[in-house]
Amino acid sequence: MTATGGSAYWAAVIIGGLVLAKLGMQLVLEWLNRKNVTAHAKTVPEAVKDVMDQATYEKSVRYTLDQSRFHQVALSYRVVVLMVILFSGVLPWSHDLCKAAWGESPWAMAMYLFIVGAAISSLSLPLDWFEQFQLEARYGFNTMTGRLWWIDRLKGLALALVLGLPLLALVLQLVEWTGLRWWFWAWAALMGFQMVITVLAPVVILPLFNKFSPLQDENLRTRLTELAERTRFQARSIQVMDGSRRSRHSNAFFTGFGRFRKIVLFDTLIEQLSPVELEAVLAHEIGHFRKKHIPKLLALSALASLAGFFTISLLAQQEWFYRAFGFDSGSIVPALLLFALLSGVVTFWFSPLANWWSRRYEFQADAFASQVMNETDSLAGALRKLAEKNLSNLTPHPAYSCFYYSHPTLLEREAAFKKRAPTAP
Ligand SMILES: [Zn+2]
Repeated sequence: MTATGGSAYWAAVIIGGLVLAKLGMQLVLEWLNRKNVTAHAKTVPEAVKDVMDQATYEKSVRYTLDQSRFHQVALSYRVVVLMVILFSGVLPWSHDLCKAAWGESPWAMAMYLFIVGAAISSLSLPLDWFEQFQLEARYGFNTMTGRLWWIDRLKGLALALVLGLPLLALVLQLVEWTGLRWWFWAWAALMGFQMVITVLAPVVILPLFNKFSPLQDENLRTRLTELAERTRFQARSIQVMDGSRRSRHSNAFFTGFGRFRKIVLFDTLIEQLSPVELEAVLAHEIGHFRKKHIPKLLALSALASLAGFFTISLLAQQEWFYRAFGFDSGSIVPALLLFALLSGVVTFWFSPLANWWSRRYEFQADAFASQVMNETDSLAGALRKLAEKNLSNLTPHPAYSCFYYSHPTLLEREAAFKKRAPTAP
């Protein structure tokens, strides 16, 4: 065995081990969560009784357990697929095939990466289908037809082809043009691309999937516009989105920059909440805006992708990294591909940190909303209704919520309301 052969062997063993370690941790978390939920189901916590009646609570427990069993199967299936893709030699084989057929131009290699990406995500289609039409449907959440589901997939693929493929080709071209410092320029290109997407999304991308119409309800519109003025939040319009075409789950968000900003409410949200509760939810969202959470998170993710590109540039110089998966070194393409497949194995362990950060922001936005509303009842009422309608798990295992919950649980948020007496704005 040569020196590179030896380190390539150990690299393969270690990376395979990391993939399995992540799966192991995820399965343990699912198991802990199921145990916790089942234990609470026997003695319903007092706080839960205020939020859900017995029947709804039992249904939420069954939903959580069914989701958890599905996650176990889905996680294991994905790891089997990943291991086969990494170690069967299918990647170097298909890479050679494409090189022989199309050459090594940036466009040809971008097409190769695109096809591999599409092929890998198509392997998840049966799971996605089951989740939507079995799991979600069983609890009355699915409102989608099979036809719409397929149309969504095709539109997603077309978008990836129109937007993703040129970006990939540009990154590969930059590697040729800028040599060892390519990682910086590729990152800059990605940032520019993200800016363009943010501007295009509300105008071109989102309308591909949903219908947006101005909020009709005069009373509600006045109430929300007054809130926006009171909080010095510039918005061009308040739009209603037909979320009910796909699911009973509900949401609210903003799109666009500056004076092009629009407030978007799901039709399901308007249906589920009273006007004052909707106002409180909007106040919470404006809280994120006023506390500058969005630019802060964008800056953080920009730093993370810079670190990511730098890591790829380092790995691309390591012979063992290529050899571990049967590639010949010398091309950036395998490094990009392997990084895309494997980065989750490392980033997973940072999710508690990211979630802790995100939950801090949620508490801050809640505090902002109670200050603006000068009371906490409407936001608490809204959150309770949303937990009920979405059959949220009110008693996740602490380790599970640490890894997976970007938002504090309802009971944690209510505890924070109680601690904080409202003060006049
Ligand atoms: Zn929030």
